Amino acid sequence: MDSVPEKGQIFVVTAPSGSGKTTLIDTARKNIGGVGYSISHTTRKPREGEVNGLHYYFIDRVEFENMIEAHEFVEWALVYGQLYGTSISTLNRELCSGKDLLMDVDVQGAKEIKRRFPESLSIFILPPSIEILRERLKRRSTDEGINIDLRMKKAVEEIQRCRDYDFIVVNDDLNQAAREIEAIITAQRACRNRRLPLVQKIFHI
Ligand code: ADP
Ligand code: 5GP
Repeated sequence: MDSVPEKGQIFVVTAPSGSGKTTLIDTARKNIGGVGYSISHTTRKPREGEVNGLHYYFIDRVEFENMIEAHEFVEWALVYGQLYGTSISTLNRELCSGKDLLMDVDVQGAKEIKRRFPESLSIFILPPSIEILRERLKRRSTDEGINIDLRMKKAVEEIQRCRDYDFIVVNDDLNQAAREIEAIITAQRACRNRRLPLVQKIFHI
């Protein structure tokens, strides 16, 4: 049944900065096959270890603004003073591959993706506590001039929005949280609406 092509599903993932979303997405993608990742464009500078074209497309503000003017983004947002956006061409390329697609966007982007793709599913990742979030942010403070207080203030606002999401995953134990994300993706692959076209094709029902 796996050889029959099917349409991929969009999973939008949002988490306050420092919650472990990048680590979790990487772990879940390594453990489960057939999951693509939507690489965003951003004006922020790369962190240590981040690769252009792999983690983000790092561009300058003028380039980003030109892309906005040319309507090249499905959605874009100003986050912590930097511009982030999902380009239409990246999204189309990934969706055409037939893979499921994880999108890492903030609450503004998630709202817009849900509006444009109502069948998409959304996952909110929570840290175990505000104190642990602060510790993780400090540990990862590789960004130039990172403002921990600003990120913590935004985190508290974002956490209020977790009620708008289809799933909530608490990232306490990394492996447990990654397994939950994998379970959400696996369960969705078995949804009737997604499986039925394949079953009809095979069993002529
Ligand atoms: P985000 O992408 O949400 O900003 P990162 O994935 O960069 O967050 O994680 C922030 C920091 O927290 C990193 O140093 C990462 O190794 C650490 N981290 C992530 N998940 C866990 C976890 N479950 N337990 C302990 N540390 C974690
Ligand atoms: P970071 O700089 O820590 O990688 O990301 C900062 C924030 O920007 C995170 O909340 C992340 O989800 C969000 N983000 C990353 N890419 C996009 C995007 O394409 N669109 C939107 N709206 N937010 C994004």
